[in-house]
Amino acid sequence: MLLPLPIQNLIEKISKLPGIGKRQATRIVFYLISRKEELREIIKSLSLIEKEIVICPDCFFPFQKSPNLKKCPICCHPKRNKNIICVVEKETDLLTIEETRKFNGLYHILGGLISPVDPQSYKNLRIKRLLERIKENKIKEIILAFPLTPQGEITSLYLERILKKYQVKITALAKGIPSGGEIEFADPQTIESAFKHRESL
Ligand SMILES: [Zn+2]
Repeated sequence: MLLPLPIQNLIEKISKLPGIGKRQATRIVFYLISRKEELREIIKSLSLIEKEIVICPDCFFPFQKSPNLKKCPICCHPKRNKNIICVVEKETDLLTIEETRKFNGLYHILGGLISPVDPQSYKNLRIKRLLERIKENKIKEIILAFPLTPQGEITSLYLERILKKYQVKITALAKGIPSGGEIEFADPQTIESAFKHRESL
């Protein structure tokens, strides 16, 4: 191979990041090699993330470590409604919903969806902690906010079946979000309306 091993290694690592293939990873690596100053900045940022960012033990959203914060600012916020949890696939879905400022409850980041071609994929999801949270707190409603994709539908059905055993109201976002559409890319009006018209399961 023409490339020195450290370069090959970095390409290998970057190509494993979500949405990045081998060709793109190779381009990124060459870009960084030719811009040492940017490379240094990125190393600094990564190191800061590694040292200071922790994952909330309740909702799994990342936050900055602080001696007086055990959970993320959303879970700790005194004005948030602690009786309602909106379950989302990933962090960026939470961000999109937060931007609308129309949802005042808590979140639970599932960390993925069940794949129709890999039924065992439910094992990688953070379902256990969700059930614990329902038991530990007085959760009255769980909103399932998944995309209208086969993965989203299967995950909804699976969670609905499990949650039926708990004394909690289960709702799903109204079908306002375009079919196949990701929560992450929906516009604020659509999200707001999907929350307002959410349906009981
Ligand atoms: Zn949290």
